[in-house]
Amino acid sequence: MRYLDGEMSAAERTAFEEHLAVCGECRQSMDELGQVERLTGMMKIRDPQDDFWEAYWKKLSRRLERKTAWLFIIAGAALMVLYALWKGVTDFGEISFVKVVAVLLAAGFVILLISVIRERIHQYRTDRYKDIER
Ligand SMILES: [Zn+2]
Repeated sequence: MRYLDGEMSAAERTAFEEHLAVCGECRQSMDELGQVERLTGMMKIRDPQDDFWEAYWKKLSRRLERKTAWLFIIAGAALMVLYALWKGVTDFGEISFVKVVAVLLAAGFVILLISVIRERIHQYRTDRYKDIER
């Protein structure tokens, strides 16, 4: 296989070829291997290295996309909640269904946000493998 893949040194190659010239058994195996190599070579259109890097960049960009998306969602939701709270404080007027729903949503969102942030901080502090990419 190393001979066919061109991974032998010049000296190794010469020695190998000299042996092939005198050994019918090895010549036979080489012929068979050569056919297999040609077949797999035809199927091996792409370098596995390319696949690795393509997957790597895909993973990275997907991760960035997700982070950006979450950032927008959180920013939008936070602004909405702040606006609802501001509205509620400045002109609450009489209690209406919409206002009650807004206050409930705002309270739920704030509690959820605090909970998530606390969890992330806790995870970050206790994760001994935080420096290792997974
Ligand atoms: Zn031989």
